[in-house]
Amino acid sequence: NKQVVLKEYVSGLPKESNFQLVEGSIELKVPEGSNQILLKNLYLSCDPYQRIMMSKTDVSKFGAYTLGAPIHGYGVAKVVESGHPDYKKGDLVWGYVIWEEYSLVPSTQIHFKIENTDVPLSYYTGILGMPGMTAYAGFYEIGSPKKEDRVFISAASGAVGQLVGQFAKHLGCYVVGSAGSKEKVDLLKNKLGFDEAFNYKEEPDLDAALKRYFPEGIDLYFENVGGKTLDAVLLNMRIHGRIPVCGMISQYNLDRPEGITNLAQIILRRIRMQGFSVHDHYHLYPKFLEFILPLIKQGKMIYVEDVVEGLENGPAALVGLYTGRNFGKQVVVIARE
Ligand code: NDP
Repeated sequence: NKQVVLKEYVSGLPKESNFQLVEGSIELKVPEGSNQILLKNLYLSCDPYQRIMMSKTDVSKFGAYTLGAPIHGYGVAKVVESGHPDYKKGDLVWGYVIWEEYSLVPSTQIHFKIENTDVPLSYYTGILGMPGMTAYAGFYEIGSPKKEDRVFISAASGAVGQLVGQFAKHLGCYVVGSAGSKEKVDLLKNKLGFDEAFNYKEEPDLDAALKRYFPEGIDLYFENVGGKTLDAVLLNMRIHGRIPVCGMISQYNLDRPEGITNLAQIILRRIRMQGFSVHDHYHLYPKFLEFILPLIKQGKMIYVEDVVEGLENGPAALVGLYTGRNFGKQVVVIARE
């Protein structure tokens, strides 16, 4: 049973060498009388929040990863054997999985049973999984979007950002995204339907760049990166603008977060800035599926994935998130069925 374990706690940018592929052992059966579930893990999701658990002092509710033990995250798995009445052999599920080939888990690790299998299974790590729900709840519930809003999205080509941009276009908004390479900018403009996009790494003055794309200001900023981008955005928000704060990936590898100098703009411009966690919104999942499945099937919603084959390539894929190596949603395939 191959596993990916954390070798040492991380400070600064995580490296592939912080992880190790080891051979663990597992008995491939549910113990007599237990209500646990034996899973064959298929697709692993690489998500920015996992950085928090690579630090010794963890501030999330998940708890830091245990050194020498396999790491965990979101993923798609198949039920091999079940001691729980709600699941049976052959069921496909998504939820928390362990980075190993097979796992014995309590049923509480499973978020949802997968009912729709006429879409790629990997989508349940992305558009139909946690990032999809994040984009949906963050944009519609927290962002209070209106038709014709001027919307700006950072990390716009990623798992969450690419969906927020498409939701905003779907609603009739003017949408601009920032991303870290020419290829990502081309994707946003030419494939995902963004009105404009720019490479933030090539903009010496972010404030000036935003003024160019938003001469009348921003109504809704979907925050994924924090730091300098947020500071420049605050100078370009319109009165009563909204900032759903999804994440701040530019800060995750810093020992000390960067200061924000323009925070007083929140008062002057009556900005509503609200943090949110996808965990509070999973009750909307059935409604979300009703909304998004038809759009996917009609080809009205595109989802770009960066799929890496093999558990052994998982660590490189995971750490690649923090340097922007991923092109779309980062997925690791252990097995396809
Ligand atoms: P992505 O697929 O967008 O991958 C991360 C991307 O972040 C990279 O590709 C890179 O893109 C960008 N990035 C990395 N480092 C930096 C940096 N220093 N400055 C600016 N950009 C950087 O990830 P997700 O879509 O999965 O996540 C996006 C955000 O949403 C994250 O902040 C994450 O923590 C948050 N999140 C929050 C949730 C919640 O419940 N609140 C749930 C899920 C995600 P580029 O090349 O464009 O720089």
